[in-house]
Amino acid sequence: MKITRSSKTTIAFATQKKRDILYGITDEYSRVANIFIEMFFGNNFQKKDLKKDITDVPESWLSARMRQCCAGEALGMVQGAVRIAAAKGIVPVKPVHTGRKMILSSQTVRIEKGRNSFDIWLVISSVGNKIKLQIPLKKHRHINLFSEWKKSGSVVIHRKYVMFSYEKETGGKKTEGKLIGIDCGINHLLATSEGGLYGSEVKPLINVIKRKKQASDAYKRAKKTLSYYLHKTVKELNFGEIRLAVTEKLKNLKQGKKKNRSKDFRKTPGNWKYRELLRIIEMRCEENRVSFRSVNPYKTSQTCPACSHAERGNRVGENFKCLKCGYSGQSDIVGSLNILTRFTTGQYGAGFKIG
Ligand SMILES: [Zn+2]
Repeated sequence: MKITRSSKTTIAFATQKKRDILYGITDEYSRVANIFIEMFFGNNFQKKDLKKDITDVPESWLSARMRQCCAGEALGMVQGAVRIAAAKGIVPVKPVHTGRKMILSSQTVRIEKGRNSFDIWLVISSVGNKIKLQIPLKKHRHINLFSEWKKSGSVVIHRKYVMFSYEKETGGKKTEGKLIGIDCGINHLLATSEGGLYGSEVKPLINVIKRKKQASDAYKRAKKTLSYYLHKTVKELNFGEIRLAVTEKLKNLKQGKKKNRSKDFRKTPGNWKYRELLRIIEMRCEENRVSFRSVNPYKTSQTCPACSHAERGNRVGENFKCLKCGYSGQSDIVGSLNILTRFTTGQYGAGFKIG
C-alpha cells in the first residue's frame, strides 16, 4: 500500500522583495490557470492533450515549463469539479483558480542543502522573465520525520508556506498481531482494551487553550502544544504488535461547516482536537500496516463487557461497576473493550474474530 504525507514550512524568512516576486509569479500563474480552465471546461480534455500547441495558447510571460504545471493544475481542477458533480448528480460548476497556491514540478522547483543559518533553500527557476528565486526555509521537526520517505516531485507553493509531499510503500496489512479497541477521552487521552492508559496530562493543556483569547498568538501556541501532545501520546502505543485498531466513529462531521459539528466533536466544553486525534491514530495505523476501523460509540461507556447489561448507573466517573453482574473496571478501559467487541462481533468484523 502506498501512503502519502505532507509537511508545511513557512516562507516568512524570505525578504519582502523575494516574496513580492513570488506573489507576482503566483498572480500570473493564477491568471493563466483561469484561461486554461476556460479552455478545458466542458471540452473533455485529458492529460495527454496538454501538448505545446495547447499550453502555448494563453498570452503570458510564463515559461513553457510553468505553463505545463499551470495547465496540469487547471485540468485537475476541471476534472475534480466534473467528478464531484457526477457523484452528486448535478451539473458541474466551472472552478476558479483563486491564486492562493501553485503546484510546481521538479522541473521548476528544487531543494538545495543549506548555506549559512538556513537548512534548505527552495530554488525556483525557469519560470519566465529570467526570474530565479531562492527562498530560505527552516527544516523543522516535521520535515525531519520524513527523512526516510521518498519526496514527491511536485511542491505546492502557498502565499505563506510551501508544502512538500512524501510517499512510502508500506506493503499489505498485517495478518498477525493483537486486536485492540481504543477509547479516546480527556481524563486519559487513550485507553486500550489491553488495559493501557495513555496521556493523562491532556486536561491541563485544554484548560490553557480555554483561558487564551481565540485567534491570539498565545491561543495558537497552546493549540500547537496540544497537537504535539496528541502525536506524542499516540506514539506511545506499540503499533508493531497490533494488527487491528478500532476507535469510535465521529458522526455527521463535515469539515469547515460549523452547524454540522455534532456534540461528539466537542465532547467537552472546550473544543479540543478530537478529530485530529483520530486522524493521527489512523495515520500511525497506515504507517504500521495496521487495519483501522471505527464503530458507533452508542452506550459503549455504559455497557458491561461481561454480561452486556447497559445502564447509565454502571458508570460513575472513572469507575465502572455493573449493576447487574458486579463486573468492575476503569471506565475508559471498559469503553475500549466495548468498542473492540462491537467491531469484532459486528457484520464487518468477521475476518478479525479471534480463534
Ligand atoms: Zn455485567
